[in-house]
This record gives sequence, structure tokens and C-alpha cells, in this order.
Amino acid sequence: MKVFKFGGASVKDAKSIRNVANIVSLFQGDKLGIVISAMGKTTNAMELITDAFMKNDKPKFEELVAERKQFHLAIMNELFLDATNEIYLKVNTIFNDLTARFESASRNNYNFEYDQIVGTGEVLSTNIVSSFLNQEGFKSNWTDARQLIRTNNTHREAEIDWETTTLLFQSNFQPNYKDFDIQITQGFIGHNEAGNTTTLGREGSDFSAGIIAYCCEAESVTIWKDVPGMLNADPKWFDNTIKLESISFREAIELSYYGASVIHPKTVKPLQNKKIPLYVKSFIDPKAEGTVIQSSMAQDHLIPSFIFKMNQILFSFTPKDFSFIVEENLSDIFNRLSKANAKINLMQNSALQFSILLDEEKVNVQEILDLFNDTYQVRFNSALELVTVRHYDQATLDRVTVDKDIILQQKTRETARLIVKQKITV
Ligand code: ASP
Ligand code: MG
Repeated sequence: MKVFKFGGASVKDAKSIRNVANIVSLFQGDKLGIVISAMGKTTNAMELITDAFMKNDKPKFEELVAERKQFHLAIMNELFLDATNEIYLKVNTIFNDLTARFESASRNNYNFEYDQIVGTGEVLSTNIVSSFLNQEGFKSNWTDARQLIRTNNTHREAEIDWETTTLLFQSNFQPNYKDFDIQITQGFIGHNEAGNTTTLGREGSDFSAGIIAYCCEAESVTIWKDVPGMLNADPKWFDNTIKLESISFREAIELSYYGASVIHPKTVKPLQNKKIPLYVKSFIDPKAEGTVIQSSMAQDHLIPSFIFKMNQILFSFTPKDFSFIVEENLSDIFNRLSKANAKINLMQNSALQFSILLDEEKVNVQEILDLFNDTYQVRFNSALELVTVRHYDQATLDRVTVDKDIILQQKTRETARLIVKQKITV
């Protein structure tokens, strides 16, 4: 069995969904497990619906729900030849249930309600795609991830119960391949022991594909994207990007840790554990090679990869009494930082100074100053960029530092990390 994952962009309108059917038709004779995200920007819209729900703002809630319903109906009207297709009834029921929730549900816990509402996007998209495939002559079975993927109760960041999930796939999913070549399920959502919907974190559908592949021991996973594969840099910041043909699981985890955003960071581990190859391919050019992520590290070093993080801010803390930076004040510094919920992108220390790099948009500078001012002298430098280069050489470092001042750098054998600032030219 092969697992496919189609993200929001690959099912954003009727034309894209037809393209999904074309891709599926290239795999006749294969057993497919297809994971689908919510259509287009539906998850963002569902988040706004959740906000209106929690604020008890009925007019806003109803307006947003009606708008989402219209969005889905317009796509369906382009796809379905027969206005009596049962998909219309299903979609109507899903929206009626959502509307009814406004009156019936409690509003005690934001994260709980979020999961119950936001996951609707995936339930809609999978139903629509499954019905469309069936209309086009495929035999697909819609399955409910809320009966397959078992998680704990941490709403919005649920952790997988691998053992139960594996058993559920064995009993409720795999046997269906006797009757169906294609099974479709939702990315991003699961359920807890009580049967309530949970979600795996934004952009979590890649991870869902990894979970299914792990539990069913799939032969491969393919993530269909609007890029030709994994590139060695984000084209937004870099021209002349190169597609990586083949990288190791380990390299993929390193790249996503440093901030490469092609695949969700949690996706790789379950696949690595079972040595299931992961393909990243273009849904625009489905016959093209794409990138394969697998065990061999043979090609990892061939092409340097670049990861850019913009809008960084560097804080430096120096103890006012000139005490050395040792374990004691390190733990004090981390304590204070955790109060500010700071997520550290890079850190470095010297005898008297400890420095950390943070995303500028996520920090409140005044809060940091207030937290440290009593004991430390605090300095900060903003509008910085963090450049990470895997498999660097001097030429690649020179290339990324043209017109930049280097504020700080760290190098290991494989990875160079540079904090740089645009030179001010007069
Ligand atoms: N639909 C969810 C999101 O947009 C999950 C995903 O697309 O991976 O975050
Ligand atoms: Mg999405």
C-alpha cells in the first residue's frame, strides 16, 4: 500500500480536485491510502468561526459558516454532474451540525472547542474528494480518522497513542482493502479515548500520512506539493535554487529543525523507524522525479542547503555583579526566559555574557527587559537574519554574506549558522 497526502493547495478548487483524480489514475493497480487536508484556506476560516463561537457572537458565527458553506457548494457545483448526488446531503448535515453547535455546546475550554470545530474542514474535503472519485469511476472508501488515530487529551497538540492507533488501523482500515483499492481519510485530526476530536497541530496532515504509513507498514509515502520537490533553499529568499534528488531521514530532520518548511517536522521519525521512503513530488508535474527521503546518507553532502529566518532579535545578558556565566545563572536565565515563553533559535555564551536569538514578532522586548533588569544588564539588536547552511564551504558562506555584517557565527563540521545584518549604505 502507498500513502498519498494532498494538502490544502492541492484541493483548493474544482480544477485542483480534478487534478487529484488524474494523479490517482496514474496508480491503477496500487492500493492507496489518501490523506487530505482542508480545502484552500478553510482551516484559517474555521479558526475565525471558533473565535466567533467562543465570543458568543452569533451574527458573526452564522455569517462565517454561511460563507464557508458557499465556498464548498460552489466547488461541488462544478464537480458533480447530478444535483441529487448524496454528497449534497452529507455536506448539508455537516454544516447543520456545526450551526447547531452554537446553541448546544458549552464554552469552557477554548482548545477543546477549537478541535471540535476546526476539524470540520477535513471532514468536508475528504467527503467531497471521495464522492468525486466515485463519480469518476474509482472505488474509494471514506474513512474517519476520528476512529483510527488515537491520541491523548492535549487538544490542539495531541500526542499519538501508537499502540492503540496501530490496532485500530489493523481492525478498521486495512481489511477494507479487500473491497476497495482506495481509502481516503482526514489529515490533522484524531480522537481521544472519550471519542472527542483532537488535532495534531497546524500543518499536521503530513504527520497524519506518516502515522498511517507507520501503522500499516506502507511501502512509501508521497506528499504532493506545488513545488518540484525539496529545494536547497526557499525560492522566496534565494534564486537559483536546486532540487535535492535524495536525502537521508536524518538530513530531513535536521533541515526541518533549522526551519525548512517543506514537510512537517514530526513526519519523518515514524517513517525513519520503519524505513519507509518519503517522496515529495509536484502535483503540477506528477510524473517528474521529485525528492526521495530515505535511509542512505550518500547524497546528503552533495548540495549545500540554506535556511533563512528573517526578523530576528539578539538579546545579550551580562550579570551586573560581573559574575561568570556558569550553570547557576544559566538556569536562572532559562527560568526567566520560560516566563516570557521564549523559543530560542540560537544561543551562545562567553565568560560574562549569554546571548539568545528569538523571532522578533514573538517577543515583547519590554517584558524581557522587565524580567532581567534587576540582575542583568540587557542589550538587544534587532532586524537581524539567521542563516543556516548545511554542508557549507567558504564560497557558499561568502555568497550569503554579501552586503551583510556578520554579528555572530557558529560552525560545526556540517552546519554553519550566521547571524547577519544588512549593511547600511549611505
Ligand atoms: N488543515 C490543517 C492546517 O491547515 C492541517 C494541514 O493542512 O496540514 O493546518
Ligand atoms: Mg491546510
